Amino acid sequence: RAKDAGRNRAQWFTPEMDSAIQRRVDLSSRLRSALKKAEFTLHFQPRVSLGHGKVTGVEALIRWCAQDVGQISPADFIPIAERNGMILPIGEWVLFEACRHARQWQDEGNVAVNVAVNLSARQLRDTDIFKLVVRVLEETGLPAHLLELELTESMLVHDAARVLQALEALKEIGVRLSIDDFGTGYSSLSYLKTFPLDYLKIDRSFVVDLPDDLNDGAIVRAIIDMAHTLGMKVIAEGVETRAQLDFLLAHDCDEMQGYYFSKPLPQDELKELLRRKRKLDF
Ligand code: C2E
Ligand code: MG
Ligand code: MG
Ligand code: MG
Repeated sequence: RAKDAGRNRAQWFTPEMDSAIQRRVDLSSRLRSALKKAEFTLHFQPRVSLGHGKVTGVEALIRWCAQDVGQISPADFIPIAERNGMILPIGEWVLFEACRHARQWQDEGNVAVNVAVNLSARQLRDTDIFKLVVRVLEETGLPAHLLELELTESMLVHDAARVLQALEALKEIGVRLSIDDFGTGYSSLSYLKTFPLDYLKIDRSFVVDLPDDLNDGAIVRAIIDMAHTLGMKVIAEGVETRAQLDFLLAHDCDEMQGYYFSKPLPQDELKELLRRKRKLDF
């Protein structure tokens, strides 16, 4: 097709690319009104201890049902929201809603459930995250130790001194910190000894081929050993099979999250699960 386009016309965009860009522009403008239209909800995915099998907490995951379009995956729209700045109000909404729900579960007599919230790079860079978290905890009444913030590796390398200060202040009041998608981001490990981290979440890509892929097995074992030596706990993401679970149990992984136990659930279904099936059967 580039040939047909003639010598002097650079053919940068195929029709497919064009519609991908169109879609991004379209999503970007839809995102600007999505909060006002109340199109977002949160789902919650439980995670379980591999020591006693009980639910230790949930991860809040945003869902967007856009008018006339339907469900759009956060993997598609979060990067767009980061670019157009909407991630700041959206991220604040997620934090507030997650804490509000966790406080409500506590009030309703369910055992206290930890809630983990994904942060985006811009929330660390462009806002005073410590001030925001303190305000949200105050407004919702959630004890700080029930909130966990999920960061990614790359967030800890840019403007590290300022980020370190904010994270140490959060740690000081009892908020927990974890590294999401561990092993897929920045390749330096030196931040692991600098930042006050509680958990490493092993990325799903290392879990999916367990136990057959020996390389993945070696990486997962090494991550678990390293984390334990550094005083951190390990959560395996994306566990879908009994065989994956067995590998993780055999190698002393602390917690797991994945479809094998439960998909992310709307809050009423999560409450039902917490009432009924609190335990993973080994
Ligand atoms: P993440 O934080 O690593 O979240 C885990 C993702 O893996 C979720 O996808 C979850 O539904 C999916 N998952 C969990 N268990 C399994 C499994 O056993 N098998 C498979 N195939 N998938 C599993 P989701 O909800 O589509 O979110 C995708 C990503 O979007 C998240 O990855 C996170 O990076 C981002 N995201 C989601 N919600 C938020 C949010 O509120 N704020 C920010 N900044 N990012 C968010
Ligand atoms: Mg996460
Ligand atoms: Mg993530
Ligand atoms: Mg992840």
